[in-house]
Amino acid sequence: MDTTNFVNQLRSGARAKFPAHASSLDYARKLDQQDPLRHLRDEFILPTKGSLRKRHLNGILPDGTRVASGVDKVDRAAGNDINGHDNGINGTNDTNSTDRAHPDCPTPDDDTPCIYFCGNSLGVQPKAVRRHVNAHLETWASIGVNGHFRAFASSPLVPWQDMAENCAKRSAAIVGALPSEVVIMNTLTANLHFLMASFYRPTEKRHKIILEWRPFPSDYYVIESQIRWHGLDPARSMVAIQPDEHFHISTDTILRVIDEHADETALLLFPGIQYYSGQLFDMERITKHAQDRGIVVGWDLAHAAGNVELRLHDWGVDFAAWCTYKYQNAGPGAIAGAFVHERHGRVEMDTEDGRPVFRHRLTGWYGGDKSVRFNMDNNFLPTPGAGGFQLSNPSAIDLASLSGALSVFDKTDMAALRSKSLVLTAYAEFLLDSILADQPADAKEPAFRLITPRDPLQRGAQLSVLLRDGLLDTVSAALEKGGIVCDKRKPGVIRVAPVPMYCTFEDVWTFMDVLRKAIA
Ligand SMILES: *Cc1c(COP(=O)(O)O)cnc(C)c1O
Repeated sequence: MDTTNFVNQLRSGARAKFPAHASSLDYARKLDQQDPLRHLRDEFILPTKGSLRKRHLNGILPDGTRVASGVDKVDRAAGNDINGHDNGINGTNDTNSTDRAHPDCPTPDDDTPCIYFCGNSLGVQPKAVRRHVNAHLETWASIGVNGHFRAFASSPLVPWQDMAENCAKRSAAIVGALPSEVVIMNTLTANLHFLMASFYRPTEKRHKIILEWRPFPSDYYVIESQIRWHGLDPARSMVAIQPDEHFHISTDTILRVIDEHADETALLLFPGIQYYSGQLFDMERITKHAQDRGIVVGWDLAHAAGNVELRLHDWGVDFAAWCTYKYQNAGPGAIAGAFVHERHGRVEMDTEDGRPVFRHRLTGWYGGDKSVRFNMDNNFLPTPGAGGFQLSNPSAIDLASLSGALSVFDKTDMAALRSKSLVLTAYAEFLLDSILADQPADAKEPAFRLITPRDPLQRGAQLSVLLRDGLLDTVSAALEKGGIVCDKRKPGVIRVAPVPMYCTFEDVWTFMDVLRKAIA
C-alpha cells in the first residue's frame, strides 16, 4: 500500500482505488501508520467520551491536564502553590483521583477520545491556544498598557499592536494571498457587510447580486439587507442559481447564469464550499468569467479556508471573508479574516491636492497607517493593502486564541493537509459505498445517498450523507452512544467532516462501523 499513489490519483480527479480488504480495521490502522501528519493530532485536546458528558467544571481537561483554577496562589519563594503541590500551570499531568471520582465527572474508563467529525462547525481546541491566551493574560496583568508595544522574551506573542498583522501574515499562506492582502478583524458576517460597503456599489443598470440557491442564512441576510440598504428590491436584485437533482451546481450552469444577467449584475457572492452539500466550486474559472463581464467577485470561505488549497491572489478574486473557528480551530466566534486583492488596496500619494487616493470604504482609526494613526488629526491615511479596511483596535485575547490556532498551521502547509484530506475523505466515501453494497438487494430505497460530489476535486473534507426518511433519530442516537460528534441537520442530513489535522483513518473506520450497525 502506498498512500502517495492515492494522493496522485485523487489530485488528478480520479477515484482512489482501494482494494477489497481496505474495509478492515487493520487496513485503516496501516493508513494511519503511513500518515506523514499523524503527529499533528498531539497538538489538540480531543474531547473524550467521558468529557462529552461533563456538566460541571472540575479543572481537568480531557487529556488529563489539571489546569490552574486561578484561585491557588503561587508561593514565589518555593515555586509551589500554597497547598504545596505544583499548580499545573506548566501542563503537568497532576490529575487528582478524587476529582475524577466525583459523580459529575468522567470516570477513567471513559477516557477514550471521541470521534470528532464536526470541525466544519467548530474545530477542536489546539493545546497552543491555552499557552497563547495565558501569555496574553500574563502580559496584560504584568505591564498593563505597555503590552501594546512591548514584546516579551519567551512569549509566543508579538506586542498587541502587531498581533493582527502577524496573524494576517500567517493566514495569507492558508488562503494563497500576499501578506498585505489579508486583514484579521471582526467576525465573518460583519466583514461581509464591511466589504460589501466597499464592493457592492449598485447603479440603476447594474444592481443584481448572483448567489446560490441555499446560502448560509447569515449570507442570505447580508445580501438581502444590503440590497434594501441601497433602497432596492431583493426580488429584483437577487439572482439565486438553482442546483440539479443531486444538489450540485455545475460550473457551466453558473457561467450561463452569469451570462444571462451580465449587464445588470454588480456582484457575484458565492461560497467557496457550499455548507450543505459540501460542493467545492471552481473559484478560478467563475471569478474570471464574471470579472470579464464587469462583475465584482467575492467569496465566502467559511468552509474552504483551512480546508482546501486556495490561491486568491493568483485567481484575481476581488474580496473574500472567512471565519476562523471551523477548519482553523481558533475557538467559537473567534476573530475572522478577510482578503482584499492588492489592486484594491493601493494608496496613491502624489496627487495634486496632496490628499491620498484610495478605494472608498467604511473607515475606523485602526485602518489608519501606523505612521500617523496616533496623530489624532482626523486625516485618514489608510494602511496600504487589506489592513486599511481594519476599523477598531482588535481584541488581543481573540488574536491570542487565533495565534495559538495558527501555530499548528505553521507546522505544516495546506498542500500536505489537503493531500491527507483527499485520502481521508475518499476512504470515508469508500466505506460508505461498502455499507450501501451490503444492503439487502430487495431494499426499496437505499439507506442513504451521498449529496457531496464524487469528484474529489469538487469537495473538501466534508461528506454530506442524506439519510432515508425516518432514519435520522436512530442514527443520531447510535452516533451519540458511540462517542461520535458530527453535525445532524433536519430532516435527514449528517455532515461528516474528517479533518486531516486531528482525525485518523481509524476514526473514519469506527464511525462507519457505528453507522453500518445503526442502519442494519
Ligand atoms: C459558519 C458560517 C457563517 C457564520 O457567520 P458568523 O458571522 O461567524 O456567525 C456565515 N456564513 C457561512 C457560509 C458559514 O459557513
